[in-house]
Amino acid sequence: MPASRILRLTCSLVLSAVPSFAQHSAVKSVVSLTPAIVQSGSPELIVISTLNAKSVSGSWLGHKLEFFPQGQKWIALAGVDVETSPGTTIAKISAETSEGELDLSQTIEIHPAHYRTGALTVSPKFVEPGPDEQKVIAADAEIKAKVFASSAAEPLWHGSFRAPVLAKPTDSFGTRRMFNGKLASIHKGMDFHAAKGTVVRASNSGVVVLARPLYYEGNCVIIDHGLGLYTLSMHFSRIEVHEGQRVMAGDKLGLSGATGRVTGPHLHWAVRWENAYLDPGKLLRLNLNAIR
Ligand SMILES: [Zn+2]
Repeated sequence: MPASRILRLTCSLVLSAVPSFAQHSAVKSVVSLTPAIVQSGSPELIVISTLNAKSVSGSWLGHKLEFFPQGQKWIALAGVDVETSPGTTIAKISAETSEGELDLSQTIEIHPAHYRTGALTVSPKFVEPGPDEQKVIAADAEIKAKVFASSAAEPLWHGSFRAPVLAKPTDSFGTRRMFNGKLASIHKGMDFHAAKGTVVRASNSGVVVLARPLYYEGNCVIIDHGLGLYTLSMHFSRIEVHEGQRVMAGDKLGLSGATGRVTGPHLHWAVRWENAYLDPGKLLRLNLNAIR
């Protein structure tokens, strides 16, 4: 028997063993995803209603799903990176119950999101940085890697996320961009048309884990909302928080501006979960008020 066939048989045995346990047990479970249509760039609220689960764990698209209990439910705030290709995926989820392990794995279809293509002109030093600039960029990368490596072990957010500025947002998330006709990149945040000096506020509660100037981001503030979820605000003219500071939703972070790689004053606001960049507009539309 070829190895692949043996492997397939083994897998099907493992899979078929799980439903029989579920059928014989009194444990009833429901897994729900919001938004229900999963796209590249979607944040996803995963809610598991399982009676008597002692813990729930999982993984999806190479990310660890960090579930936390809320009443009778287990919750994870996760998402699909903007660069993830559409297709069929499997989220492995299992609940530890008094009667044993319950497999709650889900097949999740990732649908394409239709992002646009745009062209921009910025200062040449941002497209072809010299040796000195490259040193700064490398140092920035190290600082950011450290920040993203140690998220709080519990959710710090409460209720829905709110827009960081009172300014018109653009639908620029996911746009494929050409800088000066050369460098292609994907826009991984949402730009708000904020005039210089517009007050920028925390979109939810958390801890300020970075508040300093960076090469591309300009004056940048990063908030850790726990369990791998961060919001990033860029191009401030002035930062008014410090690293290590706890903030609540609506607290002033500073004033918007035009520092870093910009074509003019605006607020670039990004949402990162583990190393995936998610659509901030979709996070703002996600109703989390009933969750915690
Ligand atoms: Zn931007």
